[in-house]
Amino acid sequence: MVEDKVLPGEFLCTEEECMPGAGAFSEDGSVYSDAAGSVAMNTRLHTVNVVPSKKLRTIQKGSVIFGRVMMVKENFVNVEILQGPLKEDRTVIFMTRAMLPIRNVSTRYVERLRDEFRVGDLIKAKVVKSSHLGIDLATDDFSFGVIKAFCTKCRHPLHLFGQSLRCLNCGNSENRKVSSDYLVR
Ligand SMILES: [Zn+2]
Repeated sequence: MVEDKVLPGEFLCTEEECMPGAGAFSEDGSVYSDAAGSVAMNTRLHTVNVVPSKKLRTIQKGSVIFGRVMMVKENFVNVEILQGPLKEDRTVIFMTRAMLPIRNVSTRYVERLRDEFRVGDLIKAKVVKSSHLGIDLATDDFSFGVIKAFCTKCRHPLHLFGQSLRCLNCGNSENRKVSSDYLVR
């Protein structure tokens, strides 16, 4: 059985186990959540329902998220979402993975993703796609990108001076796709 709190697009069960009820849908024999909320099984009807929860932050197209870079590949960055949209009294419930494809990084041409992001960086990004296949992010705006970067040599936070990032501990200079909301100045 899955977690009792789910996000849209999470796997719930196979169609053999139960059919999708409210807040759920099926595809290729599997049933997925269509809402953020709590899973409720109806054993009499053999359906699974997802009851939307106001305490869960929903991650949907257009949401602005904060995340941590988990992996930098040639064509995409893997991001762990740390926080959903900042709204009302909603609190962080759990973390989830997302992908930032190289074409969504910037309005300018990006040659190497490693010049824009490094593992451990904290980023601010926009959700451009959210489905059961996953969450796609974009940083192609001045306010999106890295908000806190760490020196690849000594792991100290990098300070922003104008357009460049510098480590005050070891003197190292590094490049990133820096957000206008960069935190360490
Ligand atoms: Zn350093």
